[in-house]
Amino acid sequence: MKYVMATHNQHKVQELQRILEPLHIEVTTAQLDEVEETGATFAENAFLKAEAACKQTGMPSVADDSGIVVDALDGAPGVYSARYAGEDATDADRNRKLLNELKDVPAEQRTARFVSAICVVYPDGTRIDVEGVCEGSVAFAPRGTDGFGYDPIFLVGEKTYAELTPAEKDAVSHRGKALRKLAECLERQHGG
Ligand code: IMP
Repeated sequence: MKYVMATHNQHKVQELQRILEPLHIEVTTAQLDEVEETGATFAENAFLKAEAACKQTGMPSVADDSGIVVDALDGAPGVYSARYAGEDATDADRNRKLLNELKDVPAEQRTARFVSAICVVYPDGTRIDVEGVCEGSVAFAPRGTDGFGYDPIFLVGEKTYAELTPAEKDAVSHRGKALRKLAECLERQHGG
């Protein structure tokens, strides 16, 4: 079965395709209307995006809503990760803002996690929800050149996401974990 990906983020498209295609799950993109992310949780926002894409295309649709949850900031930026530094801000602006908010926070209190909620909605209204979490911490300065978004400042052990190869990131990342759970659900559903 072919799935439409409900995202305008090319980095997410790449990650979804490189993890799902070896599992024989075909994902494609479409010109989709922008959806307002009004949900209070990652799961609600993933559902809103997948449902809108399914309605618009009539095809099974998959959406990811993700973000970084920082303990020292009481869970911020969380579901507001994309809008953390305002609507027109860049990844670099968001990273700068987060590092600035944490400038007086010592290493042991910089714990954080990346969360990915993935929702699939089918034209008959059925849906699948999965979630993946990657525990880590916020670095003191950006490091590494791979990846996107908060990758240069999110540490998993000694390395930031941006210092990992794509395959290394997929093996530990929030999105990799969520997508492998999704693949299991789809396999059960289609009988392998
Ligand atoms: P949204 O899920 O499209 O709303 O994006 C949430 C925010 O988190 C955006 O600023 C993304 O750049 C960021 N983000 C989502 N996934 C990742 C990731 O794997 N690495 C780094 N940043 C991410």
